[in-house]
Amino acid sequence: MAKDGSTGYLTTRVDAVVNYFRKNSVWPLPFGTSCCGIEMMATLCSDYDMSRFGAEVVRFSPRQSDLLIVAGIVNSKMAPVMRNVYDQMADPKFVMSFGACASSGGIFNVYSVAQGIDTILPVDIYVPGCPPAPEGVINGLMRLQEMIQRGETQSQRRERGTITI
Ligand code: SF4
Repeated sequence: MAKDGSTGYLTTRVDAVVNYFRKNSVWPLPFGTSCCGIEMMATLCSDYDMSRFGAEVVRFSPRQSDLLIVAGIVNSKMAPVMRNVYDQMADPKFVMSFGACASSGGIFNVYSVAQGIDTILPVDIYVPGCPPAPEGVINGLMRLQEMIQRGETQSQRRERGTITI
């Protein structure tokens, strides 16, 4: 019964509740390969308080993580390792491409560097910059949380069968 004496009830869907808790407990796995990795470490410092978003529990095991943050240059020898890490994560899992090099190869337009990690695995959110500022990373995380709540991440859509990658 409400304070004004009226009665009523609240309805929701199970997936909306699950997504609410899921978006507020994203556990990142940092895959830092170069200079962007340093900026990612700065983002995870207490100054930026990632615990506000429930994303401060950094794990270095793919079994315990659901957000792969790829920060830096991914060369062709590193690409299968990154894909292997991604494949070991349980669904639903999310991927953030951190910085210009991860998103497009950046200034390294050469055969030995992946020209975007989305040529190797599905990416949910791209954070621009060289390197991105911590505020940009937080903005990217908040956009990702919105996608998780709506059930629009790549792995959520794949689970529903609306995409097949
Ligand atoms: S985007 Fe810039 S800072 Fe990040 S890895 Fe590439 S060169 Fe380094």
